[in-house]
Amino acid sequence: MSEDQNKIFQLAAEAINEQRAGTLSRNEEEPSAVLPWHELVADSSVIADDNLFMISRTVCELLEKGIVGLFGPTAGLSSGYVQSMCDLMEIPHIETRRDHLPNRGTCMINLHPYPPTLARVYSDLVHVMKWTSFTILYDTDESLPRINALLKLYDPKGYSVVVRKLDIYNGDGNIRSILKEVKENGERYFIVESAGYDLFKILTQAQQVGMISDHYHYIITTLDMHTIDLEPFQYGGANITGVRMIDPEDDDVEQATMLWREFEQRRGETLIESLEKEKLTLDSALMYDAVFIFAEALHQLNQSNSIRTRPLDCDEFDNWEHGYSLINYMRMVNWKGLSGILKFDHQGFRTDFMLQIVELTSNGLQKIGTWNSTEGLNITRTQVAHHESEQVANFKNKTFLVLTALSKPYGMLKDSADKLTGNDRYEGFGIDLIHELSLMLGFNYIYAIQEDNNYGSINKKTGEWEGMLREVMDGRADLAITDLTITSARESVVDFTSPFMNLGISILYTKAKKMPPELFSFMSPFSKELWYYMGAAYFSISFLFFLMGRLSPDEWMNPYPCVEEPEVLSNQFSLTNSFWFTIGSILQQGSEIAPVSTSTRVAAGTWWFFTVIMVSSYTANLSACLTVEQLFEPIKSAEDLAAQTAIQYGSKEKGSTEGFFKEATYPPYKKMYEYMQNIPGVMFDDNDKGVTRVKTTNYAYLMESTSIEYITQRDCDLQQVGDLLDDKGYGIAMRKNSSYRNDLSTAVLKLQEAGQLQKLKDKWWKEKRGGGACETSGAATAAAALDLPNVGGVFIVLVAGMAFSTVTAFLEMCFGAVIRSYKYKIPLHEELINELKFLIRCWGLTKPVRTSSEEDNVDGDGGNRKPDDENNGFDDLANDLYNYEPDLTRSNEIKHSI
Ligand code: GLU
Repeated sequence: MSEDQNKIFQLAAEAINEQRAGTLSRNEEEPSAVLPWHELVADSSVIADDNLFMISRTVCELLEKGIVGLFGPTAGLSSGYVQSMCDLMEIPHIETRRDHLPNRGTCMINLHPYPPTLARVYSDLVHVMKWTSFTILYDTDESLPRINALLKLYDPKGYSVVVRKLDIYNGDGNIRSILKEVKENGERYFIVESAGYDLFKILTQAQQVGMISDHYHYIITTLDMHTIDLEPFQYGGANITGVRMIDPEDDDVEQATMLWREFEQRRGETLIESLEKEKLTLDSALMYDAVFIFAEALHQLNQSNSIRTRPLDCDEFDNWEHGYSLINYMRMVNWKGLSGILKFDHQGFRTDFMLQIVELTSNGLQKIGTWNSTEGLNITRTQVAHHESEQVANFKNKTFLVLTALSKPYGMLKDSADKLTGNDRYEGFGIDLIHELSLMLGFNYIYAIQEDNNYGSINKKTGEWEGMLREVMDGRADLAITDLTITSARESVVDFTSPFMNLGISILYTKAKKMPPELFSFMSPFSKELWYYMGAAYFSISFLFFLMGRLSPDEWMNPYPCVEEPEVLSNQFSLTNSFWFTIGSILQQGSEIAPVSTSTRVAAGTWWFFTVIMVSSYTANLSACLTVEQLFEPIKSAEDLAAQTAIQYGSKEKGSTEGFFKEATYPPYKKMYEYMQNIPGVMFDDNDKGVTRVKTTNYAYLMESTSIEYITQRDCDLQQVGDLLDDKGYGIAMRKNSSYRNDLSTAVLKLQEAGQLQKLKDKWWKEKRGGGACETSGAATAAAALDLPNVGGVFIVLVAGMAFSTVTAFLEMCFGAVIRSYKYKIPLHEELINELKFLIRCWGLTKPVRTSSEEDNVDGDGGNRKPDDENNGFDDLANDLYNYEPDLTRSNEIKHSI
């Protein structure tokens, strides 16, 4: 029995005796106190646990004195021995120690809750707090059976449970190296299985290695957590939850401790610290309760049976006749003690006990719920709510270690003639953003730089995260800010704020080079197709002129105007003349050929309209084509890059861009990833190196659009090529399940809504450090060759005009035929057939004029065809037709003049 327990043991007996004495003095006839007619004598001795001989001798000596019950011992080995002796001699054996053995002796009762039952409390807590994995830290091998119970109670499916021993009793009790190791493994959730007196040492060393801070969670298994000074740990931010059986604020506890103080004062002694209500250990309280229920049971037994004590001899294997009855009375007792309601099952295990769930807050331990063996866990105030209520305070008093990387323009070293120190050394978009957030939320910050410029990637060999994210995960940095891309893999190990900038992957490459002037650049105003259409129009229209000329009677004219009565008529629209006429108008030079008939004039007008439009379009576009430089762009997209080998390409090593290509399933991107992995020297640990390579060699750098924009604002020889390959954002990283995330995200969104982020972007992209040098001033874009759709309407007008004039030519021909058939009384169809035959023959540009004898036969007017005159009108046309004899079989003379 410990010294404290021994003291309590004595005080409890004294209290019972005192009660009796007080009652007797007031009312001797009807005593209300327990054991009014007996005095309890508390006798105790301290024996080494491993000295079984001494234990046996002491027990026998006590038995010889005629004891009614045996309390203790507290150690496991001697306890078993004492228990067997008590069972044999039928002496009630009362224990208060944490005994994990499933069997209790027949004469034994233990006031301590059965450890496997307690393990249920911890497993319930783990479930309620939604821990998916945890580490059990234990200090002595005695804890192993209890740990075992915890492991069994926890459903390990999908969860990991790590068990580590803290060698607190080895050497100087330094467990920092183990704790550091645990911390470096990223473990955050712990169940600490140790005695109350070790807890302070464990927590102190955990605090020294930085494990009593935000994002660390502890469940303390000792029921004496309230007895240690937790003040040093209550501001660290760690979530420390414990369980207690004694409520220092309970009235019974208060009264008992007052009573003890009174006794000690009366004796002129000062009350030892462990007997103050805040320091009252469970062992002490259980001992006090044990003496009281023992006295109560004895009292009740005494009321039915007159109890006598009797010395027992160990050698005689003597037994006490009231022992069993007394222990049964104790098991039936239902009494409220310092450790709550005292109830036992028939085996002597404590039942129906109540535990308080407490949590360490900046105001000390606060009750957040209860647990009892029938109803289980009842959390009256949730963890989340509790943390939220403390968040504002956390921000206010917090100094964050902010990790950044030297990456333009997110974090840069300030140029200054003076020697700068601390945060003053840095500037940039990220630095300004953190400053704005600190003003909004009220935290302080110190910067640290990630020297290797690795933002966060998984090491291929170890499979572990490294870079900035590792620092955040291990708690060496609170926040990480740079051009840090939010990816799903990263999001699984750290938390990000809402994105403060959106971007996508693109290509940085040198600007397109000027192309040498082309020999046939005069062709460039029109597309190839348009040239073909123009050629086709030229040939077909020329031929149409030829046909229309032949069809149209007005185009048959007197070849010799001085000869009044020509024998033949000639036509100016020979095939060559038709081609000459049309080309003359295209080239704006004209020709001497002048259409006479309506149809050819309509056709000519339409053609001229067409040529005017085409020529002016050509002229206009030619000037644009000659003045705008043709640029040579070897790549226009990532697909172009993937398809060629002349231009090398790469990205930032271990960055999210590389990650994008690694995860890609689109074949060109997969090909690009393989290329980047296999070709040495194309990947860079720093964007600046990639940019230098783009400037100096034939190399394209796959980079994030915001960074490309920053560079192309300053280096006018470089440009972004192609569209964005994806769409993502940058965020501020912090540890997983960080309580700061919501507030930081909200603050980022507020800055965005207020336009602050855009202002910061303009400042660092367009204004500071040479920004805006290459603002695009709407540079002339290459003139595109005109295509058919540009001038399609003109072609339609041309076709419509030509169709109209062709129809007119046919009508003219038919009209002439009608008149002649009437005049010569020839059947119309014959006349028409003759005309068409002549047309189809396609040769012969003269037509014989009808002879006068034939004409006389008709109307006797001399019949000579008069020279053609544009103003002759219908009469001339009729005259012509009179004089015209298209039937060659009837003609006397035919002259060809081509
Ligand atoms: N923003 C990237 C990251 O967070 C680095 C640059 C890149 O990969 O293009 O890893």
